[in-house]
Amino acid sequence: MNYLGLGKKELKKELDIQQSRYEKYMAMGLTLDMTRGKPCAEQLKLSEPMLSDSILGDYRSENGTDCRNYGILAGLPEARTFMGELLGVPGENIICGGNSSLNMMYDTISTFMLFGVSEDENDRPWFEDKDRKFICPVPGYDRHFVITQQFGFKLIPVDIGPDGPDMDEVERIVRDDPSVKGIWSVPKYSNPTGYVYSDECIQRFARMKCAAKDFRIFWDDAYTVHFINGSPAKQLSLFDECVKAGNPERVIMFGSTSKITFPGAGISALAADKRTIDFLLSKISKQTIGPDKLNQLRHVKFLKNVDGVVEHMKKHAVIMKPKFDAVGQIFENEFGAPREGQLSWTKPEGGYFICCRTGDGMASEVLSMCRRCGVAFTPAGSTHPYKIDPTDSYVRIAPSYPDVDQIKSAVEIFCICVKIVLINRLLAV
Ligand code: PLP
Repeated sequence: MNYLGLGKKELKKELDIQQSRYEKYMAMGLTLDMTRGKPCAEQLKLSEPMLSDSILGDYRSENGTDCRNYGILAGLPEARTFMGELLGVPGENIICGGNSSLNMMYDTISTFMLFGVSEDENDRPWFEDKDRKFICPVPGYDRHFVITQQFGFKLIPVDIGPDGPDMDEVERIVRDDPSVKGIWSVPKYSNPTGYVYSDECIQRFARMKCAAKDFRIFWDDAYTVHFINGSPAKQLSLFDECVKAGNPERVIMFGSTSKITFPGAGISALAADKRTIDFLLSKISKQTIGPDKLNQLRHVKFLKNVDGVVEHMKKHAVIMKPKFDAVGQIFENEFGAPREGQLSWTKPEGGYFICCRTGDGMASEVLSMCRRCGVAFTPAGSTHPYKIDPTDSYVRIAPSYPDVDQIKSAVEIFCICVKIVLINRLLAV
């Protein structure tokens, strides 16, 4: 597809072709949902054995705790070890929580807002800084951005590329401004690009000079084992790098089994240095008497350890890979090769999303055309702070939930709409 070299007559002819394809799809009265990244029913089925009553045995944890009862604020020891293996930290650095890591992120920001990042009285509550700011790599995850927006941070976008955020820019922003309190990050198979941060990027995160002593990296490793090709991508541990760099308190990691077992009924975890863990536990102890240990026990009995998780994720990959391949194949058929910046798409090795860039200023119009044809995509702008994408070009594609035929139709409609919008613009020049 190269419309730039065409004259008006040829463009009009091409427009007719694409419009008649669009109208054929319109007449089919489709309802296709490509919005949120949810596992499909076949994926959920993989974890059904976990729901059998027998898996819980005598309800006792390794240390004899009766999981049917109150207690164990930081989570079952074996669940802490298990989530520690997933996040690459010792179990003692883990708080194993309830059904949502996003909830743990929200609560952690909320705690830092009200009380600061530690008991030290020099660590002032974040709310006292009226000029507080948070860095948001873009394109990124909308639910991260709205948490810090709700708590009154000014959101600073920084571009992300295949190796991670633009670290020159991150280092520049954190160096001199003590009001910059943190950054969001999805380091592996990032939402929505699927990018994997490079080791160099991770080392720069650990070593960079921050004007704010209470600057924290919110490292959301939501997709750490969600590979679709072979095995999980290898990556340096930011936790270890921060310790080596003499900044052990800089990173708070998060993860969950939401897309390993059951979203909304999985287990979550937070990892941090021991001082932060103790501080957070002192606050959590006022919030709850303890987490759902039965679900933690169920997960450990079912998945066992990181090797067990990788074996389980291979079964997810068998379901997910054809869906990712279908999106890539349609893009190639319709557009040819990706072009730098304009009309490009990512080719992730894992995670839940593909990110496509239409030409600048086109995404909103393309997505409303898709909507009229019965296909819902995540709204344009969702990948950016305040839901404003200044380039109006980023579109998040979530292929996990629909079946392959539905994906093919939805992405084909998307491509047709891109072509129609582009030709109309060229004709208007
Ligand atoms: N973090 C990222 C990057 C996500 O994409 C999602 C869900 O889509 C979540 C967190 C939600 O995690 P949880 O179900 O553990 O709250």
